[in-house]
Amino acid sequence: MKTKAAVAVAPETDLEIRELTLDEPRPDELQVKMVASGVCHTDAIVRDQWYPVPQPVVLGHEGAGIVQKVGSAVSGFDVGDKVVVGPSFCGQCEQCLSGHPMYCVDFYDRNFGAKRGDDSTAFSTDDGESVGSHFFGQSSFAEYTNLPAHGAVKVPEDAPLELLGPLGCGIMTGAGAVLNVLRPKPGSSIVIFGTGAVGMAGMLAAKAAGATTIVMVDIVPERLEFAKELGATHTVNSKETDPVEAVKEITGGGAQFALDTTGVPPVFSQMTKSLAVQGHGALVGAAKLGTEAPFDIGTLLVSGITVSLVIEGDAVPKEFIPRMISLFQQGKFPFDKLTKSYPFDEINTAFADSAAGTTLKPIITF
Ligand code: NAD
Ligand code: ZN
Repeated sequence: MKTKAAVAVAPETDLEIRELTLDEPRPDELQVKMVASGVCHTDAIVRDQWYPVPQPVVLGHEGAGIVQKVGSAVSGFDVGDKVVVGPSFCGQCEQCLSGHPMYCVDFYDRNFGAKRGDDSTAFSTDDGESVGSHFFGQSSFAEYTNLPAHGAVKVPEDAPLELLGPLGCGIMTGAGAVLNVLRPKPGSSIVIFGTGAVGMAGMLAAKAAGATTIVMVDIVPERLEFAKELGATHTVNSKETDPVEAVKEITGGGAQFALDTTGVPPVFSQMTKSLAVQGHGALVGAAKLGTEAPFDIGTLLVSGITVSLVIEGDAVPKEFIPRMISLFQQGKFPFDKLTKSYPFDEINTAFADSAAGTTLKPIITF
């Protein structure tokens, strides 16, 4: 069949909306009609080749849609089911079997390989050129796509699909890093560096978990203002104020928990120094391969801190996405306040607004 798709063709170049041919879903796949897809910072850095994903490729990895076809070997899904799509994993390695599928040993190939395990791609052009698919097990910047069924998560009939795509990556990353990895206790303190969609999702999750001191750090005053509206108890503009000093003063010695969503090396260093004794910090911000960050092992040894590097919130999407939806439906996780919708044809405006910082979480609607 034919489908419209946004194709990444070269670094720092607009995606091209093209008509492509979509093949038939494999026995283990679903064909999904996308209703909406979030745009994640990771789509932009892959378009720009920070990670060497072969181009041309259909990106997009925060898809939400409706099942159109069910592969012959798939159980548990029917035509018409509403799904939010998370990353692909093998389900068989030690990481998957111990409840950490986001650390699947095959994660990189499956999610950044831009093809199936058998080397085929789901999309092709009229002249037979293959176009990369299966980005993060979905390639959701297409009206129709084929994806491995294990990555899809069924959501309730009344769930607002036009909002839910980002639960498959950006929102899951921030919320999962907090709720699955840091696990702040009610009444505890946390500092979050970066007030983009990931940092803000972390903030909302920390609030839902009962953290009572939530310090948000950024260099953009408007974003800090917005963080305060949504629940930050303190904000620090690290262009003007040393965030380590500020966090120590606010928390009386250091935050019990910390999250770095920037991927900027000096910020990682600030995060480690902002922690209280025995504090726990997590890095989720992505940096170019080979990026190193300073870490004062001399001074910090006695502090006994823990630092985790976290992929996709260390979530089990089938378990975590419904939890986020429940919290959202009860008004305890208003991630919809971070989003703005764009028609599919304006996908490059969505990327530009995200890069400029005017939109926290763009969602493309089909
Ligand atoms: P974003 O660009 O909207 O947010 C980043 C924020 O960091 C911005 O508000 C920016 O002003 C702030 N910032 C930049 N430099 C800073 C500095 N020196 N000090 C303080 N703040 C600074 O991005 P996002 O969508 O929130 O994503 C955050 C990161 O998470 C990205 O790197 C993205 O690629 C990554 N990511 C990782 C995973 C994962 O599995 N680990 C998943 C999704 C996204
Ligand atoms: Zn992402």
